[in-house]
Amino acid sequence: MLLGLAIGDALGYTTEAMRPGERRRVFGEIRDYRPGVRGEGRTGLPSDDTQLAFWTLEQLLEDGHLVPEHVARRFLNNRAHIRGIGRTVRAFLDRLEMGYPWYEAAPHSAGNGALMRIAPIILPHLRTGTRALWWDAALLAMLTHNDAASTAGCLAFVFIWWQLLQGIRPDHPDWWIETYVSVARHLETSNYRPRGGEYLDFEGPVWQFVARHVPEAYYQDMSVREACDRWYSGAFLLETVPSVLYILMRHADDPEEAIVRAVNDTYDNDTIAAIVGATVGAMHGAQALPERWRRGLPGELYGDDPGRVQRLITQAMEQFGP
Ligand SMILES: [Mg+2]
Repeated sequence: MLLGLAIGDALGYTTEAMRPGERRRVFGEIRDYRPGVRGEGRTGLPSDDTQLAFWTLEQLLEDGHLVPEHVARRFLNNRAHIRGIGRTVRAFLDRLEMGYPWYEAAPHSAGNGALMRIAPIILPHLRTGTRALWWDAALLAMLTHNDAASTAGCLAFVFIWWQLLQGIRPDHPDWWIETYVSVARHLETSNYRPRGGEYLDFEGPVWQFVARHVPEAYYQDMSVREACDRWYSGAFLLETVPSVLYILMRHADDPEEAIVRAVNDTYDNDTIAAIVGATVGAMHGAQALPERWRRGLPGELYGDDPGRVQRLITQAMEQFGP
């Protein structure tokens, strides 16, 4: 799960925020790490998705359990290292700097910045499996994003990953939708409107958009690219969540193809590939991820600390694993 997250992010980051059609014209189909776009020649470097997720993991390892204030402080202390920071996290860090307490520093935002970093919260709960996982996941989500759809999306994906890690497997493509909706529909309290794509008359909670439009695209046999262009695959949860679930519906059985589709066919491709990568990693295990991606991942978090991601995963397995 954690390795899949880091790999997806690293594959997507260098062509982040490009229209899929334009990306394809410039780069063809991306199936490997590319050199950085910002002048660095090295490949496979992480962005905020990997960094915030693994800094969370580092803090969980240090404390043994979730202490939200410590996670907030770690994000703030590492601010200068963050690559590709999102607007909401930037505002959150500004507020911390101004002296807001951690529990009041989250801006209102239905962006995907909490969902992209939430997966490690499962780790300290692996051995006990109690309902405290829900509380921790909600607290960790709300740390940076004060929004019900964000918290709901985090809890729904934590539930999906938890089940996959327990060996439960989707018996049907609709499993992804049903499982997501079964959690999110009880938690979402506000309505959203698309900011692009072809469903501009929709107004409702994210789970409803997902339930209505993702299976519809599936049964019309749309490609990932076509479907994601329909709802616009950006960083807004109304875009990210359907994109991730659609890729999983079509390609979860093939980890490489699932991640390649996320990297090539979506707009906010590093985050969408990170979430897809975490999911197919949880489902199939690290060995199922292509060797060239595992071997080629530098695993840096701060810069000039190769192998840190891999060491944290090993340490997490020792400290939290079965
Ligand atoms: Mg990113």
